[in-house]
Amino acid sequence: MCAGPDHYKPLAPPVGPEPVAMVPVLQLYAPDVPGLAFPDGTDLLQILWCPLVHDDGQYAPNPRLYWRSTEATANDPATGEPPRPHTAEEDFLPRSCTVSPTPAVEYPNWDLPKGFGGLLGSRFEALKEKRGYDFFEVATTQQSKVGGYPGWTQPPDWPDCAGCDTRMEHLLSITATEPGMGRWLPLEDRDPSRDESVTPPWQTAADPSVVDAIGHDMDLGDLGGMYFFVCRACPGIPHTHRYDC
Ligand SMILES: [Zn+2]
Ligand SMILES: [Zn+2]
Repeated sequence: MCAGPDHYKPLAPPVGPEPVAMVPVLQLYAPDVPGLAFPDGTDLLQILWCPLVHDDGQYAPNPRLYWRSTEATANDPATGEPPRPHTAEEDFLPRSCTVSPTPAVEYPNWDLPKGFGGLLGSRFEALKEKRGYDFFEVATTQQSKVGGYPGWTQPPDWPDCAGCDTRMEHLLSITATEPGMGRWLPLEDRDPSRDESVTPPWQTAADPSVVDAIGHDMDLGDLGGMYFFVCRACPGIPHTHRYDC
């Protein structure tokens, strides 16, 4: 539950004193995401957030991140229906969906060194001329992801760890640009008979109607994202988040 005294739904009556139930946003099991290092004794990562705007400088949902053990949760199962928020900003309410972990090699987009994108411009154009693909289509992943670079839609804003003052590691991004608008479709949804000279294979669905059903369907303030960061060097693996839209 979130009892933030200053959270609100834009253009709606005040939230009132009753705490607001958080909503589940992401659940990852270790065997499904082999590239994600789980802290010792854990094999389940859960993210929930309060689906209201928080006056904390980011004007974003208030997230919580939990590393858990499935063995421990199996021994102490929750019962009954999960609570639902009595009010919410619809942009921050995910619909029920599953994840389809799909490996991709990623190069920086917003995180390219300053001026570097300009220097490489002619090579990007040559690539597009030769293969029909933009650098950003083949080398970056503007969608929800674990690892890689944050899915920024604004200039990077990497946090430093409060404990050791070094730049934190990008853990995962939840972005509003799911594969319908993003770039990498789940392997099982791709069209094996696509014509690679016409469209990139990772963007072509065998059944185009599945694309609308992919993803959490949140707007996040209009194509924004929530980015989670951790410091694995500090005790307790501190985490923080950034939001842009
Ligand atoms: Zn809240
Ligand atoms: Zn640290």
